[in-house]
Amino acid sequence: MLRTNNLGYPRIGAQRELKKANEAFWSGKISRRELLDVGLKICQTNWEIQRSVGIDLIPSNDFSFYDQVLDTSLTFGAIPQRYHALADKKGVEHELELYFAMARGYQQEGVDVTAMEMTKWFDTNYHYIVPEFVKNQSFSLFSEKAINEFYEAKKMGIITKPVLLGPITYLLLGKEKEAGFHRLDLIDKLLPVYNQLLSKLKAHGAEWVQIDEPFLALDLDDKTKSLYPKVFSQLKQANPGLKFVLTTYFEGLRDNTDLAFSLPVNALHLDLVRGEGQLQSVFPKLKNKDLVLSLGVVDGRNIWKNDYESSLGLVRPVVDELGSNRVWIAPSCSLLHVPCDLDLETDEAILPATVKNWLAFAKQKLTEVKDIAVLAEGRVDEATQARALANKEAQEDRSTSKLIHHDAVKQRIASIGKGDDQRKSTFAVRKQKQQQALGLPLFPTTTIGSFPQTKEVRSWRAQLKKGSLTAEQYNDLIRKETEEAVHWQESLGIDVLVHGEFERNDMVEYFGEQLQGYAFTKNGWVQSYGSRCVKPPVLYGDVSRPKDMTVFWTAFAQSLTKLPVKGMLTGPVTILQWSFVRNDQPRSETAFQIALAIRDEVVALEKAGIKVIQIDEPAIREGLPLRKADQQNYLEWAVKAFRLSASGVGDDTQIHTHMCYSEFNDIIAHIAAMDADVITIETSRSQMELLDAFADFSYPNDIGPGVYDIHSPRVPSKEEMVFLLEKAKAVIPAEQLWVNPDCGLKTRAWPETKAAIEAMVAAAKTLRESVQETVD
Ligand code: GLN
Ligand code: ZN
Repeated sequence: MLRTNNLGYPRIGAQRELKKANEAFWSGKISRRELLDVGLKICQTNWEIQRSVGIDLIPSNDFSFYDQVLDTSLTFGAIPQRYHALADKKGVEHELELYFAMARGYQQEGVDVTAMEMTKWFDTNYHYIVPEFVKNQSFSLFSEKAINEFYEAKKMGIITKPVLLGPITYLLLGKEKEAGFHRLDLIDKLLPVYNQLLSKLKAHGAEWVQIDEPFLALDLDDKTKSLYPKVFSQLKQANPGLKFVLTTYFEGLRDNTDLAFSLPVNALHLDLVRGEGQLQSVFPKLKNKDLVLSLGVVDGRNIWKNDYESSLGLVRPVVDELGSNRVWIAPSCSLLHVPCDLDLETDEAILPATVKNWLAFAKQKLTEVKDIAVLAEGRVDEATQARALANKEAQEDRSTSKLIHHDAVKQRIASIGKGDDQRKSTFAVRKQKQQQALGLPLFPTTTIGSFPQTKEVRSWRAQLKKGSLTAEQYNDLIRKETEEAVHWQESLGIDVLVHGEFERNDMVEYFGEQLQGYAFTKNGWVQSYGSRCVKPPVLYGDVSRPKDMTVFWTAFAQSLTKLPVKGMLTGPVTILQWSFVRNDQPRSETAFQIALAIRDEVVALEKAGIKVIQIDEPAIREGLPLRKADQQNYLEWAVKAFRLSASGVGDDTQIHTHMCYSEFNDIIAHIAAMDADVITIETSRSQMELLDAFADFSYPNDIGPGVYDIHSPRVPSKEEMVFLLEKAKAVIPAEQLWVNPDCGLKTRAWPETKAAIEAMVAAAKTLRESVQETVD
């Protein structure tokens, strides 16, 4: 029998129950017991959904109150020293409080500890809590969460497959907090505890355990490669009778194929969405073993309906070769990265029925997995037959639909010419012309775009949606808010103003709503970190721009002042990266379509008298492919997309870009190739250290290193900012430097914003004076 295997299910709940319960617990509105109950309820619901669809290998321990990597740290007792007092004080029954203290910091009852660091989970928009390791790190079985979840499912009559983060991947995800050792050296201490957990699971009745080793699908150094056989034979030896499914995802095995197939496991999971081609190379490895192959054919990273025909094309030859009891059908990775349930999308005004018919969320993907298994085996019942037919029709509809395919857009992409991604003149020439047009002082001051999105501003938008404000009333309110912001900036002496982005809900959604080719969801939430969820828009079709998107509010702001107002756009790569995008054409093609739409907007702004235009690209770095071999190609098209969007204007129009980080060491040449006249970046938290990449590279264009951290309500003093600017000036020539915050101010309140910007303008003045003195 062809079996079905699920790797993980969304844990937030279809109505974001977990988010709501977590936040209620944090603010003291519900008890620990109540929160635990919500968690259990979500697990039970998820297990029931999977059982009713007929999934054979149902995961447990894929649930998490905050993050599965943090769960792992707690499971193995990797609790950093600074939490020990709290752990001792609270005792075991307060495990959850300790857990949240590690995730979010703790400031109560005389205890004041900072949170652990958070970073992106591979190339997803999910963020995990980074394990911290010390040289004499010890491990112990601290949390029994994995066992408890197994036990809870067993009570429902389901023997689940517990999911554990593999020991090598777990160590690699962490960080050494002191010098003198490598975290992989801790493996000998970790494995005994790992085995302890495994034997407990076995004692409770577990048959299969899923060991996630996504690193096995990435570029590995020799040290790591040599560790895999050692670790897996120890696991095998220490746990006779327990079966392991080794799980890889987000990439193909490529050069690690031999290694992966040499490991003593009972099943191996392959991501065939990201690494479709790898099946060819694994065939020869399969001949004489009884290894089960788990085929990840249903995309766990995107929301499109699976194409049954093409999945069966992959699956059938494997079944022919191995027989159906050595093949499992699965999603490519955990379904954590897609929304819960498409059935909840019932508002046609947001998600048209035609588009909805092309989609599948987590729950629907389970049915797809089941259908493919049934179809591959050829024992088809009527219901499956009907779904297969509907699937075929949906694929045909999608490949020809006039909603998606627009000849004019495709032709325009095809006719992109050689010079289209180039400004007319070099930066040196442009800089001179811009200086003439703008007459800016040394160390010009500006902000990144948004001003506080206060409760009131957000409530106006909600009221407009509900119909309790007319469009006219709403516009009046936004107009007043913009006016105040412009006048305030003018009175402060900022050099390049912004309009404040009060009319925008979100920097991608705002553009998506105005572009052709986008749809939205009501409940399409995906966990980003902890209780934070995002709702990426759905980019389903050829992109075009029916009319101006930002000219109205930018031109209005400009009409209020003689000083330049900076137009504010989101860049093509960021729009792409923060949406669910098409899988029926290369990402680069979609990026170029968005780029041309943004280009038209840039030109329209210029025509409307806007002299400075910022194209935000905070997501350019996170789009970087996981494998080194793929990165060059990505960077080339990503930079090209940005340049296409920016190059339609004259030399004297100044193009800015902005990125909310500045770990640029490895990609600085490409950042320079974007050729923005000014780039603003985040540097204050690293005390300008991150600026070194720019200095070492002799970055040619202007730079605005952020002089204060906008993530905190703390107001920095003028002196602090002067200090940072002096540091910047020591490595970057003064003529290239701008003065600005790290990022937009939409999450801040007005009082701290006003105080901080005022101090920032004063800091710039101080610097100008000090330079003037050295010249005198
Ligand atoms: N212009 C946007 C803002 O100021 C940029 C946000 C971002 O970089 N994430 O809010
Ligand atoms: Zn930013």
